[in-house]
Amino acid sequence: MPGTAASVRPSALATHALSGALVALRAAAAVAVLAASAAAAPIKFPATPDGAREVRDERDVSPYLAAWKASNLGRARALATPASANQTAYDVHHYDLDLTFTPTAQSVAGTVKVRASVLAGPLAEIELDLAANMVVDAATAAGAPAAFARSGDRVTVQLDRAYQTGEIAEVGVTYHGIPSGGSLVFTTYYGRRLVWSLSEPYGARTWWPCKDQPADKADSVDLRFTVPTGLIAASNGTRTEATDNGTVAVSRWRHRYPITTYLVSIAAYPYAVSTDWYLPAAGGPMPIDFYNVPESLAGANVVQPKVKDMLAAFAARFGEYPFLAEKYGHAEFTFGGGMEHQTCTSLGAYIEYIVAHEAAHQWWGDWVTCRDFHHIWINEGLATWSEALWAEATGGAAAYRNDLAFNRYFGPGTIHVPDAADEARIFSSNLSYNKGSWVPHMLRGMLGDSLFFGALRAFGQQFAYGTATTEDVRDAFEAHTGWDLDAFFQQWIYGERYPAYRATWTSAPAPGGHDVTLTLVQTQSGQLFTMPVPVRVTTASGETTFVVRDSLRAQTFVLRVPDEPRAVAVDPDQWILRTVETPVTSPSFDRPVLLVNGVDWATYGAEITNAYANRAFWGDYAVDFWDCFAAPAGGYPASLPAPLGHGAVPPEVMGRYRNVVWVGNHLGGDLDAWQSSPILSYLEKGGNVLLMSRMGDQFLPDTLLRFLGVSIVPGTTLYDCVAARPGLTNIARTGTQSACIVLDTARTQPETQLLWRAEQNYAPHRGIGFFRAPAGGGTQRAQGGRFAFLSGRPYRWDHAQLRANVMTLLDDWFLEPLDLAGAGAPGRALALAFGAPQPNPSAGEVALHFTLPRAGVARLELLDVAGRRVRTLRDGWSGAGTHEARWDGRDAAGRDAPAGLYWARLALDGEVRVQRIVRVR
Ligand SMILES: [Zn+2]
Repeated sequence: MPGTAASVRPSALATHALSGALVALRAAAAVAVLAASAAAAPIKFPATPDGAREVRDERDVSPYLAAWKASNLGRARALATPASANQTAYDVHHYDLDLTFTPTAQSVAGTVKVRASVLAGPLAEIELDLAANMVVDAATAAGAPAAFARSGDRVTVQLDRAYQTGEIAEVGVTYHGIPSGGSLVFTTYYGRRLVWSLSEPYGARTWWPCKDQPADKADSVDLRFTVPTGLIAASNGTRTEATDNGTVAVSRWRHRYPITTYLVSIAAYPYAVSTDWYLPAAGGPMPIDFYNVPESLAGANVVQPKVKDMLAAFAARFGEYPFLAEKYGHAEFTFGGGMEHQTCTSLGAYIEYIVAHEAAHQWWGDWVTCRDFHHIWINEGLATWSEALWAEATGGAAAYRNDLAFNRYFGPGTIHVPDAADEARIFSSNLSYNKGSWVPHMLRGMLGDSLFFGALRAFGQQFAYGTATTEDVRDAFEAHTGWDLDAFFQQWIYGERYPAYRATWTSAPAPGGHDVTLTLVQTQSGQLFTMPVPVRVTTASGETTFVVRDSLRAQTFVLRVPDEPRAVAVDPDQWILRTVETPVTSPSFDRPVLLVNGVDWATYGAEITNAYANRAFWGDYAVDFWDCFAAPAGGYPASLPAPLGHGAVPPEVMGRYRNVVWVGNHLGGDLDAWQSSPILSYLEKGGNVLLMSRMGDQFLPDTLLRFLGVSIVPGTTLYDCVAARPGLTNIARTGTQSACIVLDTARTQPETQLLWRAEQNYAPHRGIGFFRAPAGGGTQRAQGGRFAFLSGRPYRWDHAQLRANVMTLLDDWFLEPLDLAGAGAPGRALALAFGAPQPNPSAGEVALHFTLPRAGVARLELLDVAGRRVRTLRDGWSGAGTHEARWDGRDAAGRDAPAGLYWARLALDGEVRVQRIVRVR
């Protein structure tokens, strides 16, 4: 059974044994957070490494974290090596690192000792990973000097004898060098030296020799770090010694929990150190040590007092904090996100949801680690979902759902990482983080809280301090619940996309009430999903929730309710990563254009209202208006009619229009509205849709991509927009066109046309605007069913240029009769208009009529289908008013133009209108 809103509430917290003081504190904190979220405004995140500062909702941190990890780590592709045969023959028990860090030389030097048991003897040597540029000075085996050899990024130490299976071998490597690759960073911050490490996924070997495989955790580590005087080092576990003799500072760290190599860390700086305390359910308090840059204390002090509550909230759900005998803490570094170093997160941004994410990683990522990076979702999916748990702990079920709504990803790709050497793919925010976070959420919905959290804790216990794969998660959940989850994990981890349900229902009286006959059709073209789907039926006497087991392309369910049904909602609480469409059934198509706003007024302010004031998205045509959001605080721009409604567009509204112009964005819920509106059935029936949006990969399900005959290729920023068809023009940017998609210019549908392309920074060029008119039209309108897409934030294209292009699309591509808005209205100029050629098609002379709203230089020319100029009919000063020009069918040299398609292009001061002419023999 899916959980209900009531069961989602964090009841576990209330029963968690806590001191009275802590409960009071938590209650106060919860009130504060609720008050804050009521007025929550999107915040500016610091710049990501490959982009401008980005406006995000505070909770939308995954892309930010992932961008940092992928960008800063996108270097070590060559390092992703499987364990060698030798490495699989031993199991590491202990690492002892004694290292000196010299910022002036950017170097590290010292000795690392490795103790390991032999899994498959006899073993005569130990192979360790160590970057080739690091110089090995000496080696030991069993404490005595030993021979060693280098080969690429490996060092092999000869053992003193052959070791048998089960025996313990010990080797030491003394080395020095300047680490390359960016996993160990020497920098300055506020004019002071800072040393930090971030080794995930394959960077540990760039600065210390180890068996660099997450599958082989050491049971414990000892660390001795020597840094210049004045620097305070922070690391894993408990600090047992700290001295500073005025030349160097030495600290020792002792960590007695299993740890993987990429989680061993150093951060050293003249930190301001403070300690808070976490009170576990049982036992004494545990220190939380904060190593802050003094200049950051104001920001740190806002969020750091919440860390103890985060640990408590997560402990109540996952089991006790896994490193309770030692500590938790933060050490600030100059990396924009965070890194979940075991017991000592390195933190670059004091943003609450990043702090919660890294804290949750202590369980998911550190306590239980992905066995290899094909399964990174176990780390990042669970940590990202835990952000929603923190939202729930402080703001209730609605905050939980709201947080997860930000994480929905509807694009292509599998959560499973096919190529673990591709670091950008490992740290895909869409797949490993966002879609990964929906896996535990969907399991929670399917199983209910009690069973789900029980299974999650059982999984944690089973793989505690170890590593796990997707199959381990599946098997642990199956063992605890008795459910068969094979299809679930296959579909969601190894399969792509999501179910796109089309839901229709009828009802009829039946004994004791009414029968609702519900038909669910999975309209996605890829795999079918087997899911329990919650269905809520509302009647006069209340609501009844059913769960139907849906697995087929089309499936019908009969649900008995006590009264006549008023509404049927499929997955009303969003427990499934899906779309649900209630189709358009009987469209009238009797009105020209519905303009839909999907840009959050509150976030984009003048940027969006100015675009509407400039009529950038619909030009001079008469439109009706629908707003996905509530009215802007300052009221609607005068250019817009009052909205017909808000939220998703109902089928009966959409079906009245021949054209829908959708101004998309994907921030704050407009994607919900798009997905809950009957786009596909509207197209099928014969409506036309123009979608302009950033994050188009979220708006275009595979059904629409196949309809368009294009595929998405990686790319998120648009530098230019170059027209690819006659009649359209280039469109300049007015701001950063980030978070956009580009498309493969190899089209798979013969009817697909490339409208615009991005030339700058993409080789080969990428498509950013596409159009398709199906040959057969729509089922209820032969000339309809047309779909056009323009990537980019619609409000950041030049308004006048976009307006001219949209009008051309509506005129010449959608070929719709349109009404001019406000003709003759006081204070409003006439529009530039270009009438349909007469006659058309034509074997002889063609008359062209056009209206100029004002005097100016008008240019009227004829282009062939490839865009070459055939003839210029007019190019010069023309007065305001209606004009006629005639084309006799000859080119500029007086020859008869061949039969075919021609474009008549009228331009006035950069504004362009196009008509097409078919010339026949
Ligand atoms: Zn993470």
